[in-house]
Amino acid sequence: MLEATPRTALVTGAAVGIGHAIAERFERDGWTVYRFDRTLEDSARAVRGDVRSEADWKRLADRIGSEAGQLDVLVNNAGILREAPLEDTSLAVWDEVIGVNLTGAFLGCRSMRALLKRGDSPCILNVASIDALRGSLRHSAYAASKGGVDSLTRALALALELANDGIRVNAICPGTVDTPMFRSIHGNTADRAQERLALHPLKRISTAEDQAAAAAFLCSGEAAFITGASLSVDGGRAIR
Ligand code: NAD
Repeated sequence: MLEATPRTALVTGAAVGIGHAIAERFERDGWTVYRFDRTLEDSARAVRGDVRSEADWKRLADRIGSEAGQLDVLVNNAGILREAPLEDTSLAVWDEVIGVNLTGAFLGCRSMRALLKRGDSPCILNVASIDALRGSLRHSAYAASKGGVDSLTRALALALELANDGIRVNAICPGTVDTPMFRSIHGNTADRAQERLALHPLKRISTAEDQAAAAAFLCSGEAAFITGASLSVDGGRAIR
């Protein structure tokens, strides 16, 4: 159980993968969870939208404001990966990746600040990546976007930004996680699976639930004195 008092949370990119696991984890703990994703149909607490769209964020803030009156937890999780060598990374791909992964997180923080300010022990959790901490082949746009998310986390955690409102801001940096994103890049071949396992000292790749457990901790009262932190949740991969 995360908290005795039910909390209201918003998770972006919550249709599948890590975002879905975080939303399910929060709901199991009795929280009210809004899910925001470009593939969801609008329904109770599910909102279809694009994290790059200011208009979609405004619609979402108006809805949460009128229904819940406040927001306690924002998880900026929506993200995309486009792999290519530098010379094949078009400006359109660069803009798309930076737009979803970095601008999406910025818009989320800015759009939800007023509702978070009214929240109980409010916090933001940004989903960055191991690519924010170390290089990765064919990932220039993705790594730049996730490095930006990591820096945004620290910048916003400062007193004059969000700490004066009591809003904590942290990030998780997943390693390789078994989600639709991972499967679309690596497929299910035994060779690729073995290659990924060899990169992780704990000799397995992450489940989405491993990431949800870290998210649950950082968004709970147990982490009340943690802000501006980026937590590696990668089975030791970043230290190799
Ligand atoms: P996924 O592709 O399995 O799921 C991503 C979700 O985000 C989908 O539901 C998708 O519809 C949604 N989404 C994408 N673009 C969107 C947009 N513009 N607006 C709204 N929703 C959008 O991905 P995942 O593996 O669950 O990754 C989740 C987060 O974790 C991402 O930020 C990703 O970069 C990060 N991450 C993943 C891994 C991994 O190995 N899977 C590793 C490190 C970091």
